[in-house]
Order: sequence, then C-alpha cells, then structure tokens
Amino acid sequence: MIDPAPRTIATAVHLPQQATSARGRRLDPRALDSGSFVEAMRDHGTSRPAGLAAYRAWYRDHDPRPLEAIGVSTEPRGEIVRTEIEGLTVKFALRLDDGLESESVVIPMRKRSGGFSRTLCVSSQVGCAMGCRFCETAQMGLLRSLATEEIVEQWRFARFILPRTPEEIAAGGPATGHEIRNIVFMGMGEPMENLDAVLPAVRVLCDRNGPGLAASRIAISTVGRVEGIRRLGAFIQEPGYRGLGLAISVNAPNDAVRDEIMPINRAEPIDALFEAIRAFPKRPSAALCIEYVLIPGVNDRLEHCDELCGRLRGLKCSLNVIPYNPRRDSPWPAPEESTVEAFIGRAIANGQFVKRRGTKGRDVMGACGQLGNPEIRRAGRRGTGV
Ligand code: SF4
Repeated sequence: MIDPAPRTIATAVHLPQQATSARGRRLDPRALDSGSFVEAMRDHGTSRPAGLAAYRAWYRDHDPRPLEAIGVSTEPRGEIVRTEIEGLTVKFALRLDDGLESESVVIPMRKRSGGFSRTLCVSSQVGCAMGCRFCETAQMGLLRSLATEEIVEQWRFARFILPRTPEEIAAGGPATGHEIRNIVFMGMGEPMENLDAVLPAVRVLCDRNGPGLAASRIAISTVGRVEGIRRLGAFIQEPGYRGLGLAISVNAPNDAVRDEIMPINRAEPIDALFEAIRAFPKRPSAALCIEYVLIPGVNDRLEHCDELCGRLRGLKCSLNVIPYNPRRDSPWPAPEESTVEAFIGRAIANGQFVKRRGTKGRDVMGACGQLGNPEIRRAGRRGTGV
C-alpha cells in the first residue's frame, strides 16, 4: 500500500481573511469547549442558542459565517507550507504566527472489517527538550510549546483544509479534508510538559458540539513524566474522559538500557515510572499502551524482553513494539525483521498482549520518532532569530 517514491508538494493554503471585531478577537473557539465559549459570548451579548449554533456550524460544517456574524475571528492559526505524501500517509507542516512550524501526520489504519480509517498524529510542542537519542525531534531541542488553539488547529486543517492525495481526487472524492477517526499526541514534543494546553485541547476535541471525538479515540503519549501521569490520572476521573488512551514510551527493561537512550530516566528512574503507572486508574487494557522502540544492539535481546515482561506482569496493558525508524544521521539501522519477530514471539510466550506498530510514513520522515525535519529546524532558527 505504501508508495515507495514519496512526493513533496509545496502548498500554501489560505482561507479568506475573515472579519474580526474587538469583542470577538479575544474569544477563540479553538481554545474553548462549547460550554465555555457560549458562556463567554453571553457576556458579550450573544444568546446561548446563537453562540452554540455558530460553534457547531464551524466545527461540523466548516462554515465560519455564523461565528463572523457574532464578531468572532475565524482566521486560521497558520498555513500549510509543506505536504509530503507516501501512499495514503500525508505529513503536513503548519507555519505558525511567529514563523515556527508544527508537523502533523494523517495515517491510514487498516480496519478488521476491511477498508481503512485515518488517525491524526498531532504535535504538542515545536521541538522537544527530552533528548531521546533515537528521536529526530530531539535533535532540534525545544523551541516552544503550542497553545491549545494551535493543537486543535492541526485537527481542523486535517479535517477540512488539507488536500487529499492525487489518487483520491482522481477517484472522484473531495479535493480537501480527511475524516479523522483517532488522534494521537505522538508528534513533536512531550505532551506532559504542556498539559495546560493539551488537556483543554482534549476537551475541545471531545466536545459533542465540536469535533465530537470519543475520548477513547484519543491517546496521549509520554516519555514517562511521573507528575504528568498523575495529573492525567486525575483528569480521566472526570465524566467523559475515562477512556482516554495513555501510551508510555518505556523502550527499556532496566535503568542501564534506559539511561543510555532516554536522558529523562536519570531524573525519573524506571522504578518510579512503573510506580506511577501502577497507581494510574484502572481501565480497559487497550487504554494503556507500553511503547517499545526496538533498536538493534540496544534493547532487542530476548533477555530484555523477559525482563520487560516481568515488569508488565499484572498490568492491564498492551505492549506496542515499534521497529526503530532511523532518524537522520542515526547511529543505528532499522532492526532486521527476524529480530522483530523473535522479540514479539518471546513477549507472547511470556503471556503478554502485543501489538506491532506499522512503519507507515518512514520514507517521508513521518513515521514514529521522525518528525522535525531540516526545514522545521530552519524555520525554527528564523522564528527565534537564531
Ligand atoms: S521521543 Fe518524544 S519525548 Fe523523546 S525526544 Fe522525541 S518527541 Fe521528545
């Protein structure tokens, strides 16, 4: 299914300049769930039904006119400056107001019933401070965290504005917009370092009057920030968020291996991480994923697998094995297929439920751990004046 020859399509998608007013400018429906938005608009003299109808029209029908009519700016928070396509995987870069760029990826996922659905991988920061050695994003460091509206805007661009692939357009479908079934916070950045923007974004994305995604269709990935895991544990106790997915990038069975590839482990060792994981509210096993990037010569031995499975015993979780996607100038290659199969087979023999992450988007540096390419770094230097 994956086209071996990726194509880069430079695009600049602009929406028409929208009317703004002083009263609406401060209220961004991308940053507020419908309840908060309607309340805020009532303070500005807009009735509840009018505010709600405007919010719904924008999110459901991509119709900005009712919002404009009540004085709210719908100006896009960025423009698409690059689109890269590999098969049905589409990576796009949004240039933000300050010239920095975020990256997002629309990934096709095959359904058991046939056909496929689309998952959107969003960024929560531009760059990342966590320094994981296997990750492309780490190479650029942290430039800044994204605001709630900049996270939600990635969904809005993917859902309504992002061009479809030439094949899909040729097959007679619409020219823009992708149905998004799932969202994963696995793009650039560490979401737990930006929870003050990420959690409000989850509220907007799950809003029935807005994008309307079920919480169980959203997953937040973390390098394993203990305090963030605790905060998220409190958040999911709220009605409606119980099913929110949590993916923890463990990648090692012990401190010796984890120290080598993930600097965070020196501050928060693996025992402290697993203590936080065990204290996380119990949910269906599908809602907790333990991610394991399999890196040749680092963490791929069968003894590593046994030790890891020992740690996971008694946890309701799925182990997601991700064959390493080499970053630029990587010291390691991708693992051999036989090594991946042996590791997965051993985990199953240990009684562990295992999933294997596909490698969609590797050719456009859109696969897991590959976001943050040289253009983004250049934009970063421009945006920060470095
Ligand atoms: S893997 Fe995630 S947390 Fe680690 S450096 Fe990359 S983006 Fe940051």
